[in-house]
Amino acid sequence: MTYVVPAPEPKSVPVVGQEGRFPINRIFCVGRNYAAHAAEMGGEVDREAPWYFTKSPASFCASGSTVPYPPGTSNYHHEMEMVIAIGSPVFKASVEDAAKAVYGYACGLDMTRRDRQQDGKDNRRPWDLGKDVETSAVIAPITQASAVKELGPKRIHLSVNGVLKQDATLSDMVWSVPEIISHLSGYYHLQPGDLIMTGTPAGVGPVVAGDKITGGIDGLEPISLTLGAAE
Ligand code: MN
Repeated sequence: MTYVVPAPEPKSVPVVGQEGRFPINRIFCVGRNYAAHAAEMGGEVDREAPWYFTKSPASFCASGSTVPYPPGTSNYHHEMEMVIAIGSPVFKASVEDAAKAVYGYACGLDMTRRDRQQDGKDNRRPWDLGKDVETSAVIAPITQASAVKELGPKRIHLSVNGVLKQDATLSDMVWSVPEIISHLSGYYHLQPGDLIMTGTPAGVGPVVAGDKITGGIDGLEPISLTLGAAE
């Protein structure tokens, strides 16, 4: 294969205990999946159906990176999330069958230009400038599902410069992992390599240049991101 311009490098995530890496196909994100976060954003959760936005794979950023504070915002927010890695094709799966498609789980950060997301809400326009931000899809190494015990009791937490900002348990999620996969597979032929960020608990807030974000979920590899000076 020859290309007329340089081909972009494929994005991939390390896997705990494996030499091989997990290739990123797509990045789906669930909106408002924790009631307390929905409330802090001025909304409320309903049980009608989950809903989604996407980040392009080009927005991937390895955990442990130092990245510039992004352009076009003065209100860049952290969102700590649990990430599902899809390992087998799944389409129109029942809730009962959906979990079979999971390859593993990881910590993730859905970094967000909150001011640009708010512009989108105010003007009924898409969220891309708020959400599909370069280096904003931070994903820690994936732990294979076979090594992960029951998700519900796991604590999910995030600190900025060592100060705890987000602290919840995965059982606080409005939509469970099988429910999300089942629902999303009604719209997409989910593929190995797809990632699903499952929403953030309450406590989101701004970061500034020089801040170090650290987060964790019980039993998974921790995540970190450091913000450098604006470009
Ligand atoms: Mn999010």
